[in-house]
Amino acid sequence: MSVLILTDGSDASRQALTLARRFGDPVHAVHMDAVAPFAPDSLAAILQQVADELNAAAVFAAGTDRGNEVMARLAARAGLPLAANCVAVTPGAPAALTRLRWGGSLLEEARLHSPRPLITVAPHTVSIEEGPEPIDVDVARFVEELDERDLLVRASDHVAPQDGGVSLTTAKVIVSGGRGVGSKEGFAIIEELAGLLGAAVGCSRAVTSAGWRPHSDQVGQTGTKVAPEVYIACGISGATQHMAGLKGAKRILAINSDPQAPLMLNADYTVTGDLKEVVPAITAEIRKRT
Ligand SMILES: Cc1cc2nc3c(=O)[nH]c(=O)nc-3n(C[C@H](O)[C@H](O)[C@H](O)COP(=O)(O)OP(=O)(O)OC[C@H]3O[C@@H](n4cnc5c(N)ncnc54)[C@H](O)[C@@H]3O)c2cc1C
Repeated sequence: MSVLILTDGSDASRQALTLARRFGDPVHAVHMDAVAPFAPDSLAAILQQVADELNAAAVFAAGTDRGNEVMARLAARAGLPLAANCVAVTPGAPAALTRLRWGGSLLEEARLHSPRPLITVAPHTVSIEEGPEPIDVDVARFVEELDERDLLVRASDHVAPQDGGVSLTTAKVIVSGGRGVGSKEGFAIIEELAGLLGAAVGCSRAVTSAGWRPHSDQVGQTGTKVAPEVYIACGISGATQHMAGLKGAKRILAINSDPQAPLMLNADYTVTGDLKEVVPAITAEIRKRT
């Protein structure tokens, strides 16, 4: 099986070794120094060249915003169908796929008729594993041949979030607030706890709709899908659209005045009570111990 890796010019040996161990040799890497920062057409062009050269049976990519964009452009170039958000694939003609639909509330069984299936893998389908120590691995390198037109669409700038805070997608701990927080100002206690835990702040759509937090903080079907070690939900009822963003969370602690709220019934740990008392009490306890 051929595995294509996109690197940012850094040493690919660790990733290559992990992939080689999991899927078998050979591992093929494309070094993208010439196309940084993000230029989706050039990545699609490179992928197409490499896939043709290797006669790849299929091309996989992570189902991130960038992965989906590059693969959509590859699909358009190659005139092939793209199946996005897959959680399982059985090779064959046609390939049998299971895809996440409707924000994760539906699993679709599909058949993909294509000489070269193009597939993106839904976020958090495969858990992140610590890679082995880097050792020498046989990495075939390709030199990309790009056209000027491939570089027309590219990221011109990267603006870091103003608060410089922890990103929701990579956070190990998330403290999230819902309508129960009561107001924009009410998030001060959520932020304080998050700051102590080195956590990201998240929220429900009720909160973004009320203008208390930016949309970038929203967790759920139409927000960010998260996979923290611990998700602390404060005053969030647990509507299906919110839960769709939590499938990757390892542990959930719910704080809610209603013990029958869906999130309370789906959490690993619950505290029934007023979050305006419970959250500061947790914060005070952590301060005492640190
Ligand atoms: C197409 C579509 C997409 C959507 N996408 C998303 C999405 O991506 N993310 C998302 O979150 N929602 C999404 N929604 C909205 C979703 O259906 C819910 O309306 C929303 O999640 C509710 O937010 P909430 O839990 O904060 O508010 P509520 O449902 O009003 O819940 C508030 C909770 O706070 C508790 N509470 C109140 N006061 C306190 C207190 N003092 N202490 C402790 N607990 C208290 C209450 O008991 C209640 O459980 C979507 C809806 C649609 C139709």
